[in-house]
Amino acid sequence: SKSNKSMPSLDSVKVAVRVRPFSQREKDAGSRCVISMNSGSTSIYDPKNPSHVKTFTFDLAYWSHSGFEKDKDGTLVSAGSNSRYSGQSEVFRDLGQGVLDSAWQGYNATLLAYGQTGSGKSYSMIGYGANRGIIPVVCEELFEVIQNQEKNKQHQVTFSMLEIYNEQVIDLLSKAKKPGGLKVREDQQQGFYVDGLKLVPCDSYAQIERLMEQGTKIRTTASTSMNATSSRSHMVITIQFKQIFLEEDLTKQSIINLVDLAGSERQKSSGSEGDRLREGTRVNLSLTTLGNVISALADVAMGKKVIHIPYRDSVLTKLLQSALGGNSRTIMIAAVSPADICYEETLSTLRYAERYL
Ligand code: ADP
Repeated sequence: SKSNKSMPSLDSVKVAVRVRPFSQREKDAGSRCVISMNSGSTSIYDPKNPSHVKTFTFDLAYWSHSGFEKDKDGTLVSAGSNSRYSGQSEVFRDLGQGVLDSAWQGYNATLLAYGQTGSGKSYSMIGYGANRGIIPVVCEELFEVIQNQEKNKQHQVTFSMLEIYNEQVIDLLSKAKKPGGLKVREDQQQGFYVDGLKLVPCDSYAQIERLMEQGTKIRTTASTSMNATSSRSHMVITIQFKQIFLEEDLTKQSIINLVDLAGSERQKSSGSEGDRLREGTRVNLSLTTLGNVISALADVAMGKKVIHIPYRDSVLTKLLQSALGGNSRTIMIAAVSPADICYEETLSTLRYAERYL
């Protein structure tokens, strides 16, 4: 990607595509692989017209299944990729480490996972069981490095976790429900912020682990009571990191946003008026606006004259504003399924991710 003039040593925007293994459902349906990766480039075949191939080049490309897979009839469903299997540790090393580096240097960073529901966003960001994703490992490493710092420095870490559903903000660390959600306000100095959001000072990874567990539980309950699934909401974890250099009267501050976006799939129009329809358009509003902001930022980075970056058009982009663009580092993981039955959604994910380049 392009590099930012004021941040010469870092790539300001990085885009990775990660293809997950076939799900049982896809295997049972006998679906074929439509993705192949070859040294950095990712190709997708139209299953209805296999000679129709589109190729994308992202900064990083992660393949998830090793070797060849056959379906029930012994037909090859997955082959044609030169890419090695990439596990969680490799993805952390490539993407999570950059987030940490930014934090120590005092730059803001935003890491986003985009893709249709079931494509592997949560797997990459949070992980499952022993396969920990980027967020827990980033938090753990942060405290590990803090513990080994010189004594002439102080460190402050605060953690918050929220959900944006239907353009409403829900605090995932607070059990008290606010009807209509928390208000997003604007401040001359700090920009947009969520009024009344719990910001928890943390001094160990164990504490963050507990908070994340708690937040995940509240997220599930909240979506059940709203008759929705968490796949329709955006989850934003924010870590505010401050280093105080005691002898030099100097502080370095950094904001890290770790965002598990709502499923990117087009909402099926239910035909009925009301909530579900509105939810569909609103979920897309934040995703659409994010895409527009990113495109505008990409133009800025290309040296084009950009008059307006539409941060204000959605709650998500308001909250990410201070850590998106400018000197901030942005990392995007586009999560996709390998299967032909997901072709349309996968293509649209790759196109969305392409706007970052
Ligand atoms: P999303 O958050 O996009 O809805 P998930 O992260 O929950 O999707 O992934 C759906 C399923 O696929 C989960 O069971 C998850 O464990 C599995 N999965 C996703 N990505 C990978 C991967 N890279 N390697 C192994 N399993 C994965």
